[in-house]
Amino acid sequence: MKARVSTEWLSGCSGCHVAIVDLHEKLLNLVDDVEFVRVPVLMDEKGYPKADVGIVEGAVRSEHDRHALEKMRESCGKLLAFGTCASYGGPSGIGWLYGRDAILAKAYGGNVSDAKGSKVPGGASKLEESVIPIDEVVKIDRYLPGCPPHPYFIAIAIRDLLGVESIPLSPKTVCSECGRRMQKTEGAKLSKGEVSANDPDTCFLSQGVVCLGSVTLDRCKAQCPNKGVACAGCAGPSVDLIREPHLDIRSMVAKRMAMLTGIPEQEIRDYIQGDAKTFYSYALSSPVMYGKPTVELREWAAEAAK
Ligand code: SF4
Ligand code: SF4
Ligand code: SF4
Repeated sequence: MKARVSTEWLSGCSGCHVAIVDLHEKLLNLVDDVEFVRVPVLMDEKGYPKADVGIVEGAVRSEHDRHALEKMRESCGKLLAFGTCASYGGPSGIGWLYGRDAILAKAYGGNVSDAKGSKVPGGASKLEESVIPIDEVVKIDRYLPGCPPHPYFIAIAIRDLLGVESIPLSPKTVCSECGRRMQKTEGAKLSKGEVSANDPDTCFLSQGVVCLGSVTLDRCKAQCPNKGVACAGCAGPSVDLIREPHLDIRSMVAKRMAMLTGIPEQEIRDYIQGDAKTFYSYALSSPVMYGKPTVELREWAAEAAK
């Protein structure tokens, strides 16, 4: 009997669903073993049919998201948090820094009032107070961060959940797949706001450019640094970062870059802290990051906004 698979998208960008379609021939191989009973990007199924595996993209941002997620939990045997938004809240977690009322006022404050005197459309008024990673609402069986995850990892995760075969997912960081070499350099200056550097074979950190590859779980095969762009951390925190409460992005990257370049560690720490909205953007709304005793994201962001 074929295994039944159901998917749902909550607040995200749909990129994770497009990544499922991007599986190409791997998807065809899976289709022999599974029946997709609900896939919003491919079929018009409004209900929540029973399924063995549920794949959820996006975070909970609205009453609708919460309801849809609960329906997925009720109807699916196992649930996969698919992508960084589902696992850690993702980029829209930035809303966490401002609060629901401030966001609604910013978005709709200029609207003409309706007959009831409200400027906010009905659906929008059902926003949650902040973005919520889905495991704060329902139990999750597996996580696959990535923005979106690389098809290689998607195929492994789905086959594992279906019980077809179990291949351990690598716990390594983006650096493990990056072709650039970390080496000591002289004369590098801290390049603020830069995402590229001159030498294509040398680590960005060695050239004074902040790259988050060493603190980010590899679920992309180092796509950005291998194509000339520093890692922005979109797959979420590395295993070390998750496990160790005292480790965080700022201190780990600053220490490594200072050791490679001689740029004062405090200068790098101050830069990362001052632009925390950028460097912590993919897991801002997750306690994995804001719950650390060494990280004060709200205070840093408020300071930067002055
Ligand atoms: S994880 Fe990335 S690709 Fe997936 S929904 Fe969120 S923003 Fe889009
Ligand atoms: S820090 Fe960035 S550039 Fe350096 S090795 Fe890691 S991924 Fe590559
Ligand atoms: S290299 Fe970094 S920013 Fe680029 S896709 Fe991978 S995790 Fe995301």
